[in-house]
Amino acid sequence: MKKLVITKDGEKVIFDEFTDERNEDYCGVWACVCKDCADKYRNVLSAHLDDCGSGCCSVDGCENDGDYYVDFFIGDSTIGIDIIDA
Ligand SMILES: [Zn+2]
Repeated sequence: MKKLVITKDGEKVIFDEFTDERNEDYCGVWACVCKDCADKYRNVLSAHLDDCGSGCCSVDGCENDGDYYVDFFIGDSTIGIDIIDA
């Protein structure tokens, strides 16, 4: 199983579900988050939130419904994007 790790300023958010579109025009990865996680990890996620998420929150260990999408673009130098085998 692959996990997505986003880091910013030494903080880290791990997603156990995400869509990998690094090879497509979109050239990034995206996932869903709930309001609780968006708030809890706001330092990392606030610049990446988009409305109208659906499905389940993608943050590792969270089972809430998703409220937002988060987009992370390859080449965004403000964050670290790692995809790990877990
Ligand atoms: Zn959540």
